Amino acid sequence: MGRPDAEVVAANDLQSAVRRLDSSLSAYTIRRGSGEVAAKTIVTPEASVIVVNSKYLREASHLDVERVLAHEAGHLALEAHGETVSPGRLNGESEWRWKLRYLGGTALEEYRIERALYELGYGASEMAEGESVTGSLHALNCGVFEAMTNPQSHADVRFFEARILEVVSNFAKVLDYCGALSLSGRGRGYPERDLDRFGRANWDDFVGSHWTERIDFLATVPDVRESGTGKFTKEMWHQIATLEEKLLKRVGFVFEDAPSIGTYGFFRRQSDQDTQSRLDRATEEAMARESQA
Ligand SMILES: [Zn+2]
Repeated sequence: MGRPDAEVVAANDLQSAVRRLDSSLSAYTIRRGSGEVAAKTIVTPEASVIVVNSKYLREASHLDVERVLAHEAGHLALEAHGETVSPGRLNGESEWRWKLRYLGGTALEEYRIERALYELGYGASEMAEGESVTGSLHALNCGVFEAMTNPQSHADVRFFEARILEVVSNFAKVLDYCGALSLSGRGRGYPERDLDRFGRANWDDFVGSHWTERIDFLATVPDVRESGTGKFTKEMWHQIATLEEKLLKRVGFVFEDAPSIGTYGFFRRQSDQDTQSRLDRATEEAMARESQA
C-alpha cells in the first residue's frame, strides 16, 4: 500500500514470537475460530515488524501471501496516521465503555483495511467466506459456554467478563471482515446465504437485525487509503462501541454502571430456555461436524 517500511519476519511459532516482540501482548493467541492467524504486525518505538506464520507461507499461494502483506501494511498505515484505537481510557470514559470501544476499534481497523483490499482488486478473505463464518459462529456459541462453565468464572467475575469479551472480540472482527466483503458488492443475502443450517440458526440468533445496523455504520467509515485525511473521526470509535454493546447484548451479556460503589457490573441476561437451545445447537453441530470429519 505504499506505506512505511517494515521488517518482515517468518516465525515457526507466531504466538511466542509476537509475545516476545511486544510485552504488552503477553496474552496474544493465534487461534481464531477454527483457524490460525496468518500474520501480525508489531509496532514498537524501536521498529515495525510484520511477523508471518511460516506454516501459512508454506501452504499459501504467492497471491495470498501478497494479500496478507498488503493487509499488514494497512495496519502500519493506520498506525502511522494515529488512527489505531488507543489503549488508554478517554477523559470521563467509564471502564466498561472503554473496553467496548477498544474491542470495536480493533475490529474496525480490520474493516478499513479489508475494504481497501477489495477496492484494489484482491479476492475474498477466507475469514469472510461462508464455511469460515459458520465455524466462527460455532466458536462463538461454544466460547460462551466454555466461559460460563470455567470454574474460574464462578470465582472471579472479571475473569468471566474477560473471557466473554475475548470471544465477542474475535467474532466482531469476523463481522467486520464480512462487512468489508458485503459492501464491496458480494451481493444480496451475503453472508447468511453462504452459511449451512447451523450457521444460519446461529446467525439469526447472535446477529440478526444487528447486521443491518452494523453495515449502515461501516458504510460511513473511510477505508485505510483515506487514513490521514481527517475523514476518519474519533466519534466513529464511540459509535462502534455502541454497536458492540448491542452485539454483546444479543450474545446475552450487559454492563451496568454501579456509581454508588464506584464500579460497574457485568451480567448475563438470557433466559434459561434460550441458553438451553443454544447448548443443544452447539452439541448437535459439534456431533454433526465430528461425523463429517
Ligand atoms: Zn488485521
